[in-house]
Amino acid sequence: MTAQTFSSLPLKPDLIQVTEELGYATMTPIQVESLPHLLEGKDLIGQSKTGSGKTAAFSLPILNKIQVEQNRYGVLQAMILCPTRELSAQVVREIRKLGRKFEGLQVLPLTGGVPGRDQAFALDRGVHIVVGTPGRILDHIRREQMDLSQIQTLVLDEADKMLEMGFEDEISAIISELPRDLQTVLFSATFPEGIELLSQRYQKNPVKVKVEDSAETSDLIRQLVYELGTEDKKNILMRVLQQHEADSILIFCNTKAAVTNLVELLQDQGVACGGLQGDMDQRQRDLSMAMFRNGSYKILVATDVASRGIDIGQLELVINYDFPLQPEDYIHRIGRTGRAGRSGTAVIFVGPSEKFKIFEVEKQAKATFERPNLGFKNQHGLPPGYGQAKMQTLVIVAGRKDKLRAGDILGAFTGDGGLQSSEVGKIEIHDTFTYVAVSSMLSKEQISRLCEGKIKGKKYQVRALN
Ligand code: ADP
Ligand code: MG
Repeated sequence: MTAQTFSSLPLKPDLIQVTEELGYATMTPIQVESLPHLLEGKDLIGQSKTGSGKTAAFSLPILNKIQVEQNRYGVLQAMILCPTRELSAQVVREIRKLGRKFEGLQVLPLTGGVPGRDQAFALDRGVHIVVGTPGRILDHIRREQMDLSQIQTLVLDEADKMLEMGFEDEISAIISELPRDLQTVLFSATFPEGIELLSQRYQKNPVKVKVEDSAETSDLIRQLVYELGTEDKKNILMRVLQQHEADSILIFCNTKAAVTNLVELLQDQGVACGGLQGDMDQRQRDLSMAMFRNGSYKILVATDVASRGIDIGQLELVINYDFPLQPEDYIHRIGRTGRAGRSGTAVIFVGPSEKFKIFEVEKQAKATFERPNLGFKNQHGLPPGYGQAKMQTLVIVAGRKDKLRAGDILGAFTGDGGLQSSEVGKIEIHDTFTYVAVSSMLSKEQISRLCEGKIKGKKYQVRALN
């Protein structure tokens, strides 16, 4: 399927322009599926996961037919029901954002926490769209503070949650007060039976839209939580490493010292491993990253700060050894895995004092964490041969400034009686030096031949780094 832009829709130019300004380059799948129907005025029942852009899906059609100049006391044009105050506020923000080119547009939240009298005054001054919880909105209807006769669209957002919270009677009471030719839009993350009944009772030939979780999201990441008990965290790490075999593993610590300690510990266990932290100079950091990227390190241990924004490609396993200081750090950390449709695993260790924080992290990650059992302890440390990397790194003391090119190096290394081309990996050319990954299975003789050999007929200084 090709990407679809909002400009392919019969939307007012102002709305299309705002989506562009907001950086909504293409529609999300639920928007692609639902917007055309909603713009035709059809009833719709839709399902897609959190964060998939449902708010814009129901808000743009509402905004598209709002008559801003029609702004009489208490006469509403659209109503959106949400389960909570926070969700209502979020929807209000998104509608105001999308409708920012409509001068005079009034969007009013109607939820608890604000005196009903203040809301009544606001309604009197003229409001186009109300967004609120069923209870509070019904209050205002009963007090006859709203003229519902011009309402064209009703949205039930997070309908499953509203039913779960026992709002069914309020919803029914509200709908019975609304015009007959109403467009009803129902969005829900899940489809319990109650939703089906609600739809059958109130919707007219609804279009049904369901978007399966796309393969490009973090759904491809298994997210595992291990609770730390009395056993030493380092031992737990060793067991996790054995249980989740992977070629490249990124481990996060919160301090530079923790990085250094863990690197030493792992190296003592024979693991090809490097660190990445702020006390290292630029050259050391570059080398660590190069060796991790080219397969010479099986494990990289890093702080959040040192690893920020760096490109280390696709990883199979990310371990939150130290609990992230901010939930967003977790998102950044695990964003290194499960990319481009490939699967990955993220592990987080939870100490006694972090048991509550993990729920916040889980919420932000918008995922359900698994809490597997680590099983019995079978041995101390890692099994022999565990930590061996596939590659090793040679440094050539010459680079771009010496007009060295990857093809020259590959040619020299694989030339007469040299290596198989499969035994040469990434070649990373810097200004004055070059890193070349070669198989870690090479013999000492093969390595010294490479170190002594010539490249493009010229002798360079070449050293093995690990
Ligand atoms: P949902 O209601 O499905 O959980 P939201 O409507 O809250 O999701 O949208 C999640 C985020 O995606 C919001 O920050 C929103 O601004 C943004 N968003 C919506 N549509 C698009 C789009 N087409 N392109 C990029 N971002 C979008
Ligand atoms: Mg939503």
